[in-house]
Amino acid sequence: MSDLPYLPFARPTLDEATIAAVADVLRSGWITSGPRVKAFEAALSASVGGRPVRVVSSATAALELALHVAGIGPGDEVITPAMTFFAAPNMIVKVGATPVFVDVEPTTRNLDLAQAAARIGPRTRAIMPTHFGGLPCDMDGLYALAARHGLRVIEDAALAIGSTWRGRPLGSFGDLCVFSFHPNKNVTSIEGGALVVNDEHEAQHVEVLRFHGIVRRPDGTRDVAQVASKFNLPDVNAVVGLHQLAQLPVFNARRRALADRYFARLRTDPPLELPHPGYPGEANGHSFNLFAPLLPLSALTLSRTQFRAALEARGIGTGVSYEAAHLASAFARFGYHRGDLPHTEHIADTTVTLPLFPSMSDADVDRVCAACAEVIAAARIDPAR
Ligand SMILES: *Cc1c(COP(=O)(O)O)cnc(C)c1O
Repeated sequence: MSDLPYLPFARPTLDEATIAAVADVLRSGWITSGPRVKAFEAALSASVGGRPVRVVSSATAALELALHVAGIGPGDEVITPAMTFFAAPNMIVKVGATPVFVDVEPTTRNLDLAQAAARIGPRTRAIMPTHFGGLPCDMDGLYALAARHGLRVIEDAALAIGSTWRGRPLGSFGDLCVFSFHPNKNVTSIEGGALVVNDEHEAQHVEVLRFHGIVRRPDGTRDVAQVASKFNLPDVNAVVGLHQLAQLPVFNARRRALADRYFARLRTDPPLELPHPGYPGEANGHSFNLFAPLLPLSALTLSRTQFRAALEARGIGTGVSYEAAHLASAFARFGYHRGDLPHTEHIADTTVTLPLFPSMSDADVDRVCAACAEVIAAARIDPAR
């Protein structure tokens, strides 16, 4: 149906310098974790005010290690929003703890702190919030709540690298913070993730946990201090991440400009419910990994699946971020049901992620806006009938 090139909903921006740097690593004779990992960690640390950072093979691995660093295990409860990617509750369950799913605020789609407070009990050990789509949680309220109850915080900032709160980047303050470098995120290392920790002691713990639990004995031989997995990031990935990180401000500025264009031009009848535009006065507040409006399905004759197929037929890719985590089969044993967390469920049922990535043109945004308007106009339930 479309003569235009296919427009995916996400695409990494990799320049020739990055590609050449990868070739250099491949030729260097050292391709797994080494000097580029150290350099990537140093650059990440500099970007979060000098706090220690360790990189691993994914954000999912970083979330798991963060739970271990925080000492969370069987018998513990961790509060997490139900509008999140499955990685967060998966890792809570994997370390033997119990996820306590809480609803989100309908406007920010971030953890509803009042409802979180109401779910804190004697077994609660941590809060694991997601900064939805790149928009920070209410960091003042979050850390005040955690401090009041002596809880650890593990921020899932997978989509929010470079986002600021009161002018300070996420990860530069607070407790444990996780970034993702999956290709759909704001910077990529192909696959990869980072964990920002509080001190060198925690950083050491991450280093042991990411590589078999190995520590060195005084004679140079190896001991396993605690059973652990293997989550190290290769240098090939780290050098991609280094080049990407240098471009983060440019990438995020372009994402914000494209989002602004969506806000100005995305007009359909009936209207889409547009996402949160970012907090006033916080110029770099929102990293806009996602631009995900909600479809007015009750006023349309088509389903979300049909809407997505209609865009796909016009050469436009879309995504769903996210399904409601509390309703996933693997978490059924925790006893949640449809109707328990209505804001999360409404978002999960009606959300559609539209294309947004730094190499998109203004014309690409206009094309998506026109396609949405056309598909929705054709499916409108006539209010006069
Ligand atoms: C992508 C994502 C993750 C997982 O990141 P990986 O690096 O793929 O493990 C976790 N949480 C959120 C919110 C994400 O978007």
